[in-house]
Amino acid sequence: MDMIRIFDTTLRDGEQSPGASMNLHQKLEIAKALERLGVDIIEAGFPVSSKIQFDAVYSIAEQVTTPYIAGLARCVQKDIDAAYESTKPSKKRMLHIFLATSAIHMQYKLKKTPDEVIKTIEESMIYSKKLFDHIEFSPEDGSRTEYDFLVKVVKTAIKHGATSINIPDTVGYALPFEFGELISKLIRDVPQFKDKSVYLSVHCHNDLGLANANAVSAVANGATQVEATINGIGERAGNTAIEEFVMTLNTRKDLVNKKTNIKTELLYPTSKLLTHLTGLVLARNKPIVGENAFMHESGIHQDGVIKHKQTYEIMNPSMIGRDSDTLVLGRHSGMHGFKKQLEKLGIVFKDQDQFDKAFQRFSELADRKKEVYDDDLLAILSDMIDRIPEGYIMEYHNVNSGNTIIPTATVRLKKGDEVYNSASTGDGPVDAIFKSIDEITGIQTKLKEYIVRGVSSGKDAQGEVQLSLDINGKNFNGRGSSTDVIEASAKAYLNAINKFYFVNKEGNGK
Ligand SMILES: [Zn+2]
Repeated sequence: MDMIRIFDTTLRDGEQSPGASMNLHQKLEIAKALERLGVDIIEAGFPVSSKIQFDAVYSIAEQVTTPYIAGLARCVQKDIDAAYESTKPSKKRMLHIFLATSAIHMQYKLKKTPDEVIKTIEESMIYSKKLFDHIEFSPEDGSRTEYDFLVKVVKTAIKHGATSINIPDTVGYALPFEFGELISKLIRDVPQFKDKSVYLSVHCHNDLGLANANAVSAVANGATQVEATINGIGERAGNTAIEEFVMTLNTRKDLVNKKTNIKTELLYPTSKLLTHLTGLVLARNKPIVGENAFMHESGIHQDGVIKHKQTYEIMNPSMIGRDSDTLVLGRHSGMHGFKKQLEKLGIVFKDQDQFDKAFQRFSELADRKKEVYDDDLLAILSDMIDRIPEGYIMEYHNVNSGNTIIPTATVRLKKGDEVYNSASTGDGPVDAIFKSIDEITGIQTKLKEYIVRGVSSGKDAQGEVQLSLDINGKNFNGRGSSTDVIEASAKAYLNAINKFYFVNKEGNGK
């Protein structure tokens, strides 16, 4: 059975999803989860674009050792240098370099002739090859590139040392049969694809809902690598979702006889972790990982499933790690049970201090709430990772509210050694607590999105608040969880404000 290499771009293309930007700790946590999941390559970021991006790629290259660590670069020396410097700690580093090759991109975006584009590719490849052994070249907008020119571009990149060529359907325009045909023509016309000395990769976007279909069609026609992201996050409508692609291969091996290194039982936990860390909530009907993906509502279906599962189920949810959903921890589970459940979710604390803190949070929660579910554990973990050390911390809050009084909130915040107190009234308790925080920080914020949801089941469930603030025209997402939704709201609000401070301190322009 042929092996398909998985090139994960959750931290690069995925992070470009509106509202998905992550801080360094979150990225590291995702990178470690991707390593456990078994991806072959992690594209860790676009190092030249900001100091935050550079530092994240560097830390991942330092701490994640199994997969290749790739940095993205345009065909520009300073980009290639930044990719080189940031991936230095990794023994398996890779450069991902790209240049647009479709007529429309060359004419309007690059303002270059096809000959100039070929020359730029040559020069950049020659320069890159002095620094990197493993280089992936992407002709951007590949699926809309004139075919003969595409072949010329691919051959040029290979001649100068590209070890993989990635054909992106950058704008999500291709149809599965058309894209598959493109791949088989390229294999026919490029000897290094035929003898498999160079990887042939695809990168599909989901603008027409065809990202997974196009990736599957590509591998059925001989592509040897697929670029994808967890939950399909990415520019606009997103990328091929790893979980969809892997489970398609798994479920239909009768027709597409290929496999990957992905540990399928970690697909669901990894998806959950990403959801908690980015705050990007999945559609309930999302294939494989959505809330409803294995729920049978119609009586006829339920009856069928009870009689024989496979009447309506093409996959067993336990294959993707979904059965652990039902496992519940409680006050008496103790440290051992807690640790075991974390391991099941693919969470490993290397640092004892962090583990102790997480256990402490768990015990506090188990005191407030009888049953602690996986989602609760992930919420605790996300809260810990989200915390920006030098930001505001809420020491105390008190809210009075009801239908006959004006909602009033008092808060005490701490930042470093400074302590601040404030009280405000508002339209409701959440508004009142946000106003008292504003009074202390002095920042003008616009609340653009505010979502409260129960993290797990039961009336005593933790509430998780995800919100989005506009501060000086830029978007900052915040997350917070607590059994008290007012407290969760305040935590989420502070989380977004702390991100604003963090980003401004770092001088990140993103
Ligand atoms: Zn993309």
